[in-house]
Amino acid sequence: MKSRVVQITHNGGPEVLQLVEQEVPAPGAGEVLLRHHAVGLNFIDVYQRSGLYQLPLPLNLGMEAAGVVEAVGQDVKHLKVGDRVAYASHPPGSYSERRVMPATHVCHLPDAISFETGAAMMLKGMTAQYLLKKCRPVEGIQPGDFVLFHAAAGGVGLIACQWARALGLQLIATAGSDEKCALALANGAVHAINYRSENFAERVMEITEGQGVKVVYDSVGKDTWEGSLACLRRFGLMVSFGNASGPVAPFAPAVLAAKSLYVTRQTLFAHMHSREATQAIADDLFHVVSSGLVNIHIDQRYPLADVQQAHRDLEARKTTGSSILTL
Ligand code: NDP
Repeated sequence: MKSRVVQITHNGGPEVLQLVEQEVPAPGAGEVLLRHHAVGLNFIDVYQRSGLYQLPLPLNLGMEAAGVVEAVGQDVKHLKVGDRVAYASHPPGSYSERRVMPATHVCHLPDAISFETGAAMMLKGMTAQYLLKKCRPVEGIQPGDFVLFHAAAGGVGLIACQWARALGLQLIATAGSDEKCALALANGAVHAINYRSENFAERVMEITEGQGVKVVYDSVGKDTWEGSLACLRRFGLMVSFGNASGPVAPFAPAVLAAKSLYVTRQTLFAHMHSREATQAIADDLFHVVSSGLVNIHIDQRYPLADVQQAHRDLEARKTTGSSILTL
């Protein structure tokens, strides 16, 4: 059986993304064959395409999708043919009609959640879950506390705004345009700062009356690192989880001393250390989406063949919420 697949043979710009046909093997032990109904687009795909994150080439891209199980290999206990499923997982290869992959991190998709929503939310929503629920400052966090979330109108960002509101947190958003700021506010942020036209660290200090925030969630990296540290209150937690503007430069731990700050660099895949751990994060996400606490915004849809344009738009900061590739 053949599948259309987006592959790269070398690192580079969106032009290296090539739609090719590949033979899909039968699933081996511990694997499943999936037929995708929709595919999620993520900024990590850009890092893997450009070579910022180095993976062996040639490489099939994509980390997120939803679809149906078409065949099950030996030793797979939790899935059967015909199941509706969704996943966010290594190895890449979700930009495809069909694929074989390890079953470990493939989750049942509740009937109430569409394939498109499943594809748009697994990697981004599970990330918002562990950021807000597991990355705790040493002094704890309570409803009413201020946190700062960069790129808040993006895929992870719009989910985090809504989930933070559900948790009672006062999320201060940053975003790259006034329209994006308005979107973050409409989705639960209590303040929004256009960090391309305003000094976000100064504004955060005004908003918090000089106190600073307990946690900064920073996926922008290079451009926001210093300002983010300046926004934190004493014993505050800096959660670095991405590099949309480029990697953070090496820094001296002494810069943390004045406020005794904590810094962590997080990745979703460390939290998905077992099938049970993955399922628990996914169940929490399914709950907030099914109950309407979090609405998944699919603001861009591209046919699989237009994947180059999808990458151009994501990198050019033209997108809001989630983007999907349709099949
Ligand atoms: P987004 O939809 O949030 O897109 C990235 C956003 O980053 C852009 O829309 C833009 O928003 C902002 N940005 C700031 N500076 C730049 C720049 N120089 N170039 C491009 N974009 C810039 O993407 P995702 O929702 O897929 O991911 C959000 C971030 O979270 C990414 O950095 C991603 O790598 C990270 N991530 C990390 C995970 C982890 O576990 N470590 C898991 C999932 C995602 P604006 O215009 O508003 O500034």
